[in-house]
Amino acid sequence: MDDLDLLIDLHRGTARQGPGGDAETDLAIALSGLSDRRDLKIADIGCGSGASTIQLAKSLDASITAVDFLPNVLEDLNARATTEGVSDRITTLQASMDALTFEPSSLDAIWSEGAIYNIGFEAGLRNWRRYLKPGGVIAVSELTWLTAERPQEIHDHWTKAYPEVNTAATKIAQLEANGFKPLGYFILPEHCWTENYYAPVQAGFESFLKRHDASPAAKAVVDAEAAEISLFERFSDFFGYGFYVARKLSG
Ligand code: SAH
Repeated sequence: MDDLDLLIDLHRGTARQGPGGDAETDLAIALSGLSDRRDLKIADIGCGSGASTIQLAKSLDASITAVDFLPNVLEDLNARATTEGVSDRITTLQASMDALTFEPSSLDAIWSEGAIYNIGFEAGLRNWRRYLKPGGVIAVSELTWLTAERPQEIHDHWTKAYPEVNTAATKIAQLEANGFKPLGYFILPEHCWTENYYAPVQAGFESFLKRHDASPAAKAVVDAEAAEISLFERFSDFFGYGFYVARKLSG
């Protein structure tokens, strides 16, 4: 297994592959104004095993295309959708988020939790906008600086790992500059990282290392994950995930 496969294996089987929460998906839904609408068409891009997809299917009258480039997570999502009784509302699509083939102006909403960074926030806004109907909604969560200044260590870490990391003010200005009207934003509470995301990954460290005979590569994956968790524990005052909800302006 190469490093990416190991990373995927470490995260497989957990309920979510990034920070988030069902209540927070519902809060973004409330900001979106979609709750009273019927027969919505939604894409959940970078859906992973479908934490947000399932919640969208439960909370909205929608058919949802769940997009990810990893077939394994889509299998997990399909199994989960069946267990949760929402499989009739969800279609999985194995595709890369930078090469989508939705019809132009066909979607009421694009959802993407903890995934747009893979294409980049602004590139994602520009690339995906065409698939939204005029008035359609984009709802994305994205790594965000919570203060104007921060300790050098955390600044350097995220600037290197994700050069587009920025403040909410900048992210909102990027939405405005790319033909969207912001409807609202909020910062994910810390338990969305600790309880909902990191704790289940940490709980799997031991069995993961056993599965891979404690190989140096497997140990390195666990060490990198533990280092990221420690950064959150030390610096969560300075960074988090912003959840941005905005409406496509016509034109
Ligand atoms: N939305 C999920 C998963 C977030 S992790 C959740 O909140 O739990 C990011 C997801 O994006 C992963 O499942 C990963 O496989 C997917 N991904 C990464 N790059 C991608 C790409 N280029 N195209 C499609 N999916 C991608």
